[in-house]
Amino acid sequence: MACSATLSQLIDILAAKGANLSDAALAKLSHGIQTDTRILKPGEVFLALRGEKFNGHEFVPMAIAKGALAAIVDFAYPNPEFPVLQVKDTLQAYQKIGRWWRDRFDIPVIGVTGSVGKTTTKELIAAVLATQGKVHKTHANFNNEIGVPKTLLELNAEHDFAVVEMAMRGKGQIAELTQIARPTIGVITNVGTAHIELLGSEAAIASAKCELLAEMPQDSLAILNYDNPLLIETAAKVWSGKVITFGFTGGDIQGELIDADTLAVADMQLPLPMPGRHIAANYMAALAVAQVLGIDWSCLKSGITVDMPTGRSQRFALPNDVVILDETYNAAPEAMLAALNLLAQTPGKRHIAVLGAMKELGERSRQLHQRVGETVQKLNLDALLVLVDGQDAEAIAQSAKGVPSECFTTHADLAARLKTLMKEGDRILFKAAHSVGLDRVVSQLRAEF
Ligand code: ATP
Repeated sequence: MACSATLSQLIDILAAKGANLSDAALAKLSHGIQTDTRILKPGEVFLALRGEKFNGHEFVPMAIAKGALAAIVDFAYPNPEFPVLQVKDTLQAYQKIGRWWRDRFDIPVIGVTGSVGKTTTKELIAAVLATQGKVHKTHANFNNEIGVPKTLLELNAEHDFAVVEMAMRGKGQIAELTQIARPTIGVITNVGTAHIELLGSEAAIASAKCELLAEMPQDSLAILNYDNPLLIETAAKVWSGKVITFGFTGGDIQGELIDADTLAVADMQLPLPMPGRHIAANYMAALAVAQVLGIDWSCLKSGITVDMPTGRSQRFALPNDVVILDETYNAAPEAMLAALNLLAQTPGKRHIAVLGAMKELGERSRQLHQRVGETVQKLNLDALLVLVDGQDAEAIAQSAKGVPSECFTTHADLAARLKTLMKEGDRILFKAAHSVGLDRVVSQLRAEF
């Protein structure tokens, strides 16, 4: 078959781990590798992945029916007519091809990780770089061991920059993603307590994030949050290459928040695409990337626009000058505090927080929920509504002393109460772990008003 030479060469490279494969041969494959038969196009190669819910190998017949050129599988496929490449581990094969393809591009590749703010920072960096050229960036949440190779395989000759988000759920994962993406610039937004249950301590989280630095090529450059001492200390242990820091308390790029929408930095006032001190911190990371790449910040004076995914930094106006701050996508403890501060700073008559549990916090869960309640109290919010689902959410209400608080066990009861509570000029923040489902309450209110 026409492609068998290509496939046998690919076998060679996978077996020999980096043997020299002709560019033309792998280029043909790598640009059309698809892991999902629903979007597979005729002529593409289908790579079957084994996941928790699906086994891609069951979809090989579907791939053939849809005109796949060949398949990469981990068993001897019993169809001599259809060219297959049998490998030991299809995910590893995907990652190797992703890395191989990425190495074809001599462009800045910016890797972004951190406890919170990865997606926001990735979007901000991409928007800043888009003022200079064509940017390829991680789409949706393709930020894991499958998503990163997928993102890299989408690179093409038109791209001037790539911004690759890297997420982790445990030790060793950022190292793996870094080896695939080989960033020329590595950004760590911060180190916090998100997913602490999985890693046990903030120090362990810091080490896991700093795998990005440990695995980056030595001539790459690190961009780090100066306001996060644990990050700076941990980074210094594993990275001796160039570093640029950003922060409010110091750093190479030191900014000051003039108001919720404006960052003052290096004699300039730059409008933020979304309000908030946490957004300004992420924006400084993007400015650091720009600086490293020799981009003059003055092109940012008129502002940039960023399209944030659902449930993150989104606002909706309801009739009667009621504004919803929709942060329902997820809730790490640091993100919860940032969102509450933003709510308090949002001009309006009353400030109401509608919160639910934060997840994967292990032994620290109760204490971290209490800290959220204490912050509600400190900010002197006008009301607190908590959806309690068996986790430690009620600790938020118990700790928000002096703030009128109510707990609910169903979405319906919470929505019904909100309808009677809402008044002209209210600013209402919704935030909880995604699984709490506060997005359903937001959708209901938006549909009914
Ligand atoms: P996830 O791992 O859940 O996808 P992420 O790290 O990609 O999250 P974002 O999606 O950018 O983070 O933001 C998630 C939430 O964290 C948002 O609600 C946002 O308001 C808040 N957030 C973003 N940046 C920061 C920051 N620097 N500090 C604190 N909170 C932040």
